[in-house]
Amino acid sequence: MTKHVQWVKEKWKNIETRYRIKGVLYEEKSEFQHIQLVDTHEYGKMLLLDGIVQTTEKDEFFYHEMMVHVPMLAHPDPKQVLIIGGGDGGILREVLRHPQVEKAVMVEIDSNVVDFSKKYLPSINNGAFEDERAKIVFADGAEYVEKTNGTYDVVIVDSPDPIGPARVLFSEKFYVQVHQRLNSNGIMVRQTGSLQIQADEQKQAHKVLKNIFTHVAFYVYCVPTYIGGLFSSVFCSESINPKNIRSDEIQTKVTEVSLETTYYNPGIHIGSFHLPEFFKNRLK
Ligand code: SAM
Repeated sequence: MTKHVQWVKEKWKNIETRYRIKGVLYEEKSEFQHIQLVDTHEYGKMLLLDGIVQTTEKDEFFYHEMMVHVPMLAHPDPKQVLIIGGGDGGILREVLRHPQVEKAVMVEIDSNVVDFSKKYLPSINNGAFEDERAKIVFADGAEYVEKTNGTYDVVIVDSPDPIGPARVLFSEKFYVQVHQRLNSNGIMVRQTGSLQIQADEQKQAHKVLKNIFTHVAFYVYCVPTYIGGLFSSVFCSESINPKNIRSDEIQTKVTEVSLETTYYNPGIHIGSFHLPEFFKNRLK
């Protein structure tokens, strides 16, 4: 009897990536999206939303460390942090590794993602949801920033691509409201997609954000399971220009908070803002 070999596919326009899997751990169509959690041979457990890879046990740290430590170590004293999305808990985990943090509010639209991430992805959230500094709110992130009167030092938007419930998190209105929720020295970062495959996301973000924030700087790093591999985020602030920060200043802070990492380091931090020529031309 031939053993049934299972594969999970990620389709993106004219590209299809297949991962051989040991099995499906969880699958459901929630109120908001199609949720799949599978156990892959090469990347361990993998979360997909609406058929798009969100995170895997084997490469999650590439993304979570660059999304968190770049803004947190650029900020002079990040105490109040807001995370929009981030249901797997990887961003929250890395934020709470900074001892200065007094409060980390995570606003996630789909409680199912948090529930099964606690159950099936403990290596990613690593008890972060139970930390007394963490406050988990189940709500639409755009509605939350519109209604809250809280203010934050760092806002991290860890949303999927601009499809389904996440579309509103790429709107000018949302960015303007995040800007209003930032304290002085406040920083917002968000993922802006793959350089090779999602150029429109970077162009759109640049066009909108440069009219809202004084400093808007993209940074580039690798995420193996994100389509195209070469990935980007954008750093926005009124007062902090990330290109004026030196790696020795970052190294001093890394030592102060005894931060041990697997991908991130001060050299990669500074280097990530040195963009490839084709990307600089794209933003012109
Ligand atoms: N790192 C991944 C990426 O770059 O594609 C995103 C990971 S995280 C799992 C994305 C989370 O954003 C999901 O749990 C999803 O439910 C949540 N989300 C989507 N739209 C949202 C919204 N409008 N407000 C709050 N959370 C939202």
